[in-house]
Amino acid sequence: MTGKTFICTLFSSSGGNCAYIRNKGEEYLIDAGVSARAIETSLKTLGTSLANIKAVFVTHEHSDHIRGLEIISKYYRIPIYAPSLSCSAIGQSSMHTLLCLNRLDAPDAVDFCETSFKPFATPHDSASSCGYVVNLGEKRVGLATDMGYITKSTAEALSACRAVIIESNHDIDMLKNGSYPYHLKKRILGDYGHLSNESCAGFLPYLIACGTKSIALAHLSAENNTPAVAFAESYNTLKSKGITVCCKTSPGDVNLAVAPREGVCVLLDE
Ligand SMILES: [Zn+2]
Ligand SMILES: [Zn+2]
Repeated sequence: MTGKTFICTLFSSSGGNCAYIRNKGEEYLIDAGVSARAIETSLKTLGTSLANIKAVFVTHEHSDHIRGLEIISKYYRIPIYAPSLSCSAIGQSSMHTLLCLNRLDAPDAVDFCETSFKPFATPHDSASSCGYVVNLGEKRVGLATDMGYITKSTAEALSACRAVIIESNHDIDMLKNGSYPYHLKKRILGDYGHLSNESCAGFLPYLIACGTKSIALAHLSAENNTPAVAFAESYNTLKSKGITVCCKTSPGDVNLAVAPREGVCVLLDE
């Protein structure tokens, strides 16, 4: 791993989510939605380990975001921050009392020496839900997944973020024509469900106009999306607005990637 600042996703899908941030020697996770062992294995490929993680920031209490928390709390004693109502929900559903569980609600922020985390509320069908803007000193990065739509406060929070991890959950037609039961389709498509490829793509020109240089499409549905479909929706929307995407052979206005279900997807390495 090189550089003083390094942002990536380690796991990203409806099956489990975890993002990693390194800033001037401080290391953090956002969400721990797979086993602690899987996170540890992934961190090893980056030359680090859970023992070096300063804090875990949780977006909400759904299992694809907290699966590894109990072990992380019990064996590593890493401080965990989550919205108040999610803290209560996590506390009620955990087999063990989570140690070092801290309530963090917008508009409060948590400041470390070099890095600060500021949550913003997102519309989702959990007890509470948030995204995070991470201030790295001179620049900031943002993460927003699990949201039915982009609210004004989400758009404001993510403006001027150099790199953004954003949900591109499903293709609307694949979902509507797929095998999910009606109630689940209704939930995902609703205002408190998940962000479609179309809604995500429609938001990207705003982000880029506000200074975003690197975007990872995240939290893809395994059933109602594919990396190629999600990428094409955003790529074509950007192209229609005259925004060019960087590729190996030519520079462009923005780096656009699809975060894989498992494996490192780097947004920033400086
Ligand atoms: Zn969720
Ligand atoms: Zn989720």
